[in-house]
Amino acid sequence: MDADKLTSIIIAGGGLVGSLTALLLARRRPDLSIVIVEPNAAGPVPDKRTIALAAATVELLQQQGIWSSLAAASEAIKHIHVSDRGYLGVTRLHAEDEGVAALGQVVPAATLNRALYQQLGELPNVTWRAGTRVVAIEQQIASAAVTLASMAETAAETEQLNCQLLIGADGQRSFVREALGIGMQVTDYKQVGIIATLQLAEPLAGWAYERFTDTGPLALLPLPNQQASLVWSVAESDASATLALTDEQFLSALQAAFGYRAGRFVGIGERLQFPLQLHLAERSFAHRAVIIGNASHTLHPIAGQGFNLGVRDAISLSDQLARADDPGAYATLADYWQQRKDDYQQIIGLTDLLVRGFSNHHWPMTQLRNLALLGLDAVPPLRNRFARQTMGLTYLAKPLANGERT
Ligand SMILES: Cc1cc2nc3c(=O)[nH]c(=O)nc-3n(C[C@H](O)[C@H](O)[C@H](O)COP(=O)(O)OP(=O)(O)OC[C@H]3O[C@@H](n4cnc5c(N)ncnc54)[C@H](O)[C@@H]3O)c2cc1C
Repeated sequence: MDADKLTSIIIAGGGLVGSLTALLLARRRPDLSIVIVEPNAAGPVPDKRTIALAAATVELLQQQGIWSSLAAASEAIKHIHVSDRGYLGVTRLHAEDEGVAALGQVVPAATLNRALYQQLGELPNVTWRAGTRVVAIEQQIASAAVTLASMAETAAETEQLNCQLLIGADGQRSFVREALGIGMQVTDYKQVGIIATLQLAEPLAGWAYERFTDTGPLALLPLPNQQASLVWSVAESDASATLALTDEQFLSALQAAFGYRAGRFVGIGERLQFPLQLHLAERSFAHRAVIIGNASHTLHPIAGQGFNLGVRDAISLSDQLARADDPGAYATLADYWQQRKDDYQQIIGLTDLLVRGFSNHHWPMTQLRNLALLGLDAVPPLRNRFARQTMGLTYLAKPLANGERT
């Protein structure tokens, strides 16, 4: 690549949010050149998570022609059951009550990232720089100079590219955020999320479970082939012991914590752990740069909203840039931040309330949350509002026309 040439946009990070943003931008603005910088040498990182996509995210993927390649690997969420183990409080959401075919879909993150990667490969204005990472940023008046380094141990040389806008989609430990000097508010929940795929004696038949247990919140998502995706949040101090259990011991501890509402757990795949923290950047933009997705906010997975929030970053940024003569102009980035702030506060507030409210064993708190769950279940308009927020329907994406520039 010609070092003197000005690239319109560099995206640091080809994860789910970086790739989706590149796709939306490249389709709306074929006149912009986009470079994605991704350390992983063989395309996107093979992420082992399974994620719940809100209905609005699924609709966006359908509009973008990606859903057809994911449908076989996905499972619809038709009902959601939220409960507090050992108490009466329960809320149930049903797709048919909300007038939709599904409340969301569950897909392997790697399958989604690969599908995005393949679509990006068909766009002439996108270049994927695999096996490189961003190692330095210099903000200039009309551009940002971005230094890339190869991940290969033998390659000591670096390369500089100039762009009008740098998008940091480089995840929770974002180099871009740090280099821009954007501060971070961190809340450590002192919990670890253990994820695994479970084999079940009976299929979940479209039910997703969110269960608050003595050991921590536990989510089960339906998967094809009588399987379920598990996220079990356990106290940091219990994590090593829980992970050290044999499969059999783990399954029986899990069954004891969850109960038999989803039938018997009969098998388990590889177990992985993630530290559970809330990270929120104090702002999402700087001169000639913006941070999105986990680089800007990392949530506890309790409500399955992290990626869905990043999707709305991608939509909002592509909306702003669809109109911009200079994609890195201050006013464009400030408008973007203005548009995103409230959504962050709402989703983070809801997630934080769930984590703290349901990790508390004091009597008044357990009564309150059970009343809240019973209240939600008994009052259809309240339940409907909760469901619409869960599905992300308040943010339904606008159809994005190929090559559109509004
Ligand atoms: C256990 C668990 C379960 C979850 N379940 C759900 C769910 O059900 N629903 C939901 O919506 N969300 C869920 N999430 C959240 C979701 O996984 C994340 O929000 C999402 O993966 C964030 O994507 P991202 O692209 O912003 O970041 P990442 O996936 O972290 O991608 C960052 C990318 O940047 C690259 N990178 C790193 N450093 C550099 C550099 N210096 N230069 C260039 N590139 C760099 C990395 O290689 C990577 O590809 C869950 C999270 C966890 C932990």
